[in-house]
Amino acid sequence: YEIGSGLVGSEMCIRDRSLLYYIFLLKSNIVITSKNTKRKGKKDMILDLFRLNGKVAVVTGANTGLGQGFCVAFAEAGATVIGVARRSCAETAAKVEAVGGTFFEVLTDLSAPDASKTVANACKKLTGRVDILVNNAGIIHREDAVNVTEANWDLVTNLNEKLVFFLSQAMTNEFFIPQGGGKIINIASMLSFQGGIRVPSYTASKSAVMGLTKALANEWASLNINVNAIAPGYMATNNTTALRQDSDRNDAILCRIPAGRWGTSDDLMGAAVFLASDASSYVNGFTLAVDGGWLAR
Ligand code: NAP
Repeated sequence: YEIGSGLVGSEMCIRDRSLLYYIFLLKSNIVITSKNTKRKGKKDMILDLFRLNGKVAVVTGANTGLGQGFCVAFAEAGATVIGVARRSCAETAAKVEAVGGTFFEVLTDLSAPDASKTVANACKKLTGRVDILVNNAGIIHREDAVNVTEANWDLVTNLNEKLVFFLSQAMTNEFFIPQGGGKIINIASMLSFQGGIRVPSYTASKSAVMGLTKALANEWASLNINVNAIAPGYMATNNTTALRQDSDRNDAILCRIPAGRWGTSDDLMGAAVFLASDASSYVNGFTLAVDGGWLAR
């Protein structure tokens, strides 16, 4: 059967081509049961896009808090996890192994010079590949702006901001470009959007994280590298112990959260797996707030 005789493919409108295709199928006794056979062949196909089987995820600040939660989430989704920390990740390793995952530890001080190269080299030796990087390690320094020293400023911004750039660069050069793609998830903050109180270096660094997320996404999206960020709201971790122990601040914060409670690392798991997976392959340069509604106020 001659399809499109006398007509060049590009000259036919979609309807013409569909009609000819349909006639062809009728003549050939081919039966199509669904227009979307490719997608509907497997009932759980969309959920499969979220799976991380065969991937390697690197999480900085993996020994506690939100970083520990990301490690467990990735392991549950099927990834091998490399946790980077300056202290033992034994507790995280046990949690990852309890859900059937594999965990490797890289012990290093991320404030040290060349920390990004140290981490990339260690990953090369441990797994030989990396598919996902979570720039999670971070510190906060609470002080009136008039008293902040240059040394304190550098401590916060070097880890929260400079390392985010250079570790992303190292992983991209070492793994993501040669492998043909990768996922970077930066951990931003409500203070990527707002000013905060008595934490100017933290606000500066987390605002930079949101900017860097966009800047790197623009350069690397065409390389199949997705750079995005998660902005957690107020989460119950070591980072916020001082706030939660100050009953006035604690009450003021709780009153302002529409969800009416502090978040936990479990609340971030869905967003992290989404941004680490193929389900988010057309999401680039976005900072996703997971904040119980804080920014909506
Ligand atoms: P956390 O419990 O204090 O954890 C921070 C992690 O970073 C720890 O593993 C810490 O290790 C590690 N770290 C700090 N300095 C390091 C260094 N020089 N070398 C290696 N590791 C270092 O705080 P978290 O709440 O889980 O914070 C995780 C990320 O989320 C941070 O970027 C934070 O800014 C961000 N965040 C948190 C909240 C919140 O409400 N908790 C909200 C928005 C954003 P040690 O245990 O050894 O200190």
